[in-house]
Amino acid sequence: MKKIMFIAEKCLACKTCELECAITHANTTNINDAIWKVPQPFPRLRIITENGKNKILRCMQCKKPKCVEVCESGALKQENGMVTLNEEKCTGCWNCIEACPFKSIFKNELLNIAIKCDLCNNKEKLACVASCPTGALSIKEVN
Ligand code: SF4
Ligand code: SF4
Repeated sequence: MKKIMFIAEKCLACKTCELECAITHANTTNINDAIWKVPQPFPRLRIITENGKNKILRCMQCKKPKCVEVCESGALKQENGMVTLNEEKCTGCWNCIEACPFKSIFKNELLNIAIKCDLCNNKEKLACVASCPTGALSIKEVN
């Protein structure tokens, strides 16, 4: 299973990863196409700065995912070690957002659904990692 690793000291909070995540999930490689997609694409990770330190909010693919435990609609599942969200089943109750200890599920208030990292549909190359200009992000295979 893949995990996204983060080296805070290398992060400039440029948010290139957020941008590339949103563009990739709009099924394009072009920012000008992504802007006009309806609904507008959302990033599935966030870079925040707290007390002068850059931090990342991204799904940790927990072994015992709290988000799955509290999802009553069955939208969130753990399969082959990866936590997936079926957006069609999501009822927008936000239980998972409250439960996630890493604050790594986000609200898409336009569609009234939760949104989380899908490891770029389990592709080899992740948009955030590939786009980070400083190498602050990397992928680690874990058991
Ligand atoms: S969304 Fe949060 S609780 Fe769920 S697997 Fe990811 S980090 Fe864990
Ligand atoms: S917001 Fe959606 S995914 Fe989250 S717990 Fe509610 S139904 Fe499940």
